[in-house]
Amino acid sequence: MLGKTIGIMGGTFNPIHTGHLLLAQAALEEAELSEVMFLPSGISYLKAEEQVLSAERRLAMTKLAVEDNPAFTVSDMEIRRKGNTYTCDTLRQLRQEAPQNTFYFILGADCLFGMENWYRPQEIFDSCRILAAVRDTVGEEALRIQADRLRERFGADIRLLHLPRVDISSTDIRERVEKGKSIRYMVPEKVRAYILDNNLYQG
Ligand code: NAP
Repeated sequence: MLGKTIGIMGGTFNPIHTGHLLLAQAALEEAELSEVMFLPSGISYLKAEEQVLSAERRLAMTKLAVEDNPAFTVSDMEIRRKGNTYTCDTLRQLRQEAPQNTFYFILGADCLFGMENWYRPQEIFDSCRILAAVRDTVGEEALRIQADRLRERFGADIRLLHLPRVDISSTDIRERVEKGKSIRYMVPEKVRAYILDNNLYQG
């Protein structure tokens, strides 16, 4: 059986926003992927749990955000797994389920500077290719040097994607909702309605 090329778009998605969707769409097109799978994370050991909305809510918003795009899917794998969410566990599980597929982990290029400190980085770089979105936040030269470092140290397969800068962040969205400001166009309309209907992020 011929394998598929699957983009993995992991995130806290608290909430998912237009920046995430543009990044996934750019990866889909530039790397000619068969699909992009969104994986809302379970418990992140890097984020205080009380500041993050329940996994069920974040999953529901992610599903609403991508349901119109046949090339986007959502997996609750990280939410169902007990304990902290580690990318290496997710990749291992995905490869066990579909060893014929090639996996591309999609992320903001800034993450390249932290990845060495993620759990089992060698296993991550051995199991997937990396698509890193450059967004002019860090100089491109610094990114190239870091990507080369990771290639040399871990044999990482890293490709830089070029994305127009979209200054939307989940933090900003939560703050705007709390202050009663509009988040129209920052998130898909169905996500905006879900947030308002359920009184989320009201402080
Ligand atoms: P997030 O904040 O929800 O964002 C998801 C991705 O979208 C990030 O790569 C983020 O890059 C990018 N993004 C956010 N806003 C954007 C915008 N306006 N335009 C373009 N891209 C944008 O995700 P996260 O909590 O950082 O986690 C990312 C993934 O890394 C998750 O799958 C998580 O499980 C994994 N992770 C794993 C470990 C580990 O295994 N030890 C540790 C840390 C993270 P920026 O962050 O650069 O904005």
